[in-house]
Amino acid sequence: MGCIQKVKSFWKYVLLFPITVCIVHNIVPAVQYLIGFIPMKKCTLESANELNLDVSVDASLSLWYRSDVQTCTPWRAPIIWEGMFDPERYDKLHKTEGSSVALTVFAIGRYLDAYLGNFLRSSEQHFMLGLPVCYYVFTDAPERVPLIKLGPQRSLKVIKVAKHSRWQDISMMRMKTISDVVESDIRHHFTHVFCFDVDQVFTGRFGSEVLGDSVALLHAYYYHLDQYWYTYDRNQKSTAYMESGDFYYHAAIFGGTWKSVKALTDFCYKNIMEDKQNNVEAVWHDESHLNKYFWLHKPSRVLSPEYCWDTEIGYRRDIRTHRLLWATKQYDKLRRP
Ligand code: UDP
Ligand code: MN
Repeated sequence: MGCIQKVKSFWKYVLLFPITVCIVHNIVPAVQYLIGFIPMKKCTLESANELNLDVSVDASLSLWYRSDVQTCTPWRAPIIWEGMFDPERYDKLHKTEGSSVALTVFAIGRYLDAYLGNFLRSSEQHFMLGLPVCYYVFTDAPERVPLIKLGPQRSLKVIKVAKHSRWQDISMMRMKTISDVVESDIRHHFTHVFCFDVDQVFTGRFGSEVLGDSVALLHAYYYHLDQYWYTYDRNQKSTAYMESGDFYYHAAIFGGTWKSVKALTDFCYKNIMEDKQNNVEAVWHDESHLNKYFWLHKPSRVLSPEYCWDTEIGYRRDIRTHRLLWATKQYDKLRRP
């Protein structure tokens, strides 16, 4: 190779390198941005009177205020988006009916110091203000649970649990623990139960409009996508196997009446154990089983991704408010045994 050619190819590589880095760096945000333009299916109902009313006030929902998104499911359950509901009407109804909420959250191993304080402090600012709330904190280290100043009618119980060595088991076995505590305690004191991952922070109202019989959450990464892309468990050997479904739900939040949450957690735990006996594990662990449950037992209420948003996705026109945000994942640091 002549000297001039060598110099040319040197400069070619010098220029190509930053261009490649730039493309790789921007491709994911660009794809996420473009996904936001894929139209969602639309609610086929003319008015909220045609919904299967989960709570009576649902008849006052403005399904067409949010004509940009899907506001009901094919089985006539509402999908709750910002602007569709009057918060005061829901608060009034649930106060009158005496609704009360148990919030379950697990903070095991390194997740406790990394997330629990911010989760609870932010929850005190935004979660079900005005209703009686009890936090059920499950941890292997009760002595490290931070002291949080709680508002009136709000309490916190710390329950010691064993730490499974695999993070997958920590996540999946929550189903059994929740079922047990609903049976032994929650059902006697609270009308509703909401179950949360700890690696998130409340940033806006997360109020009584979410309360219903059986409540699922649309996953922020999938709500614009066709079900071809949903990461259901496609392994026919697993009890979580699904060929098709309705939506892709996120297991970071689910809830409902204590009875429904008991049914959901029992179902998932039973299937998780059956899989273990057959030496299989669902691809997304408890989330795969949760998706199977909601496919067979349709939720009566669905929450938009405004209720659990990841800012990494970038700007979306249809996400008009952030009620809860994903905290930064630190898998390398936190999931080490
Ligand atoms: N968790 C925990 N300690 C662990 C692993 C998980 O406390 O070592 C709990 C915690 O509440 C966490 C939830 O299980 O939010 C689910 O795990 P993770 O958030 O890592 O799952 P992902 O959000 O990535 O699906
Ligand atoms: Mn999580």
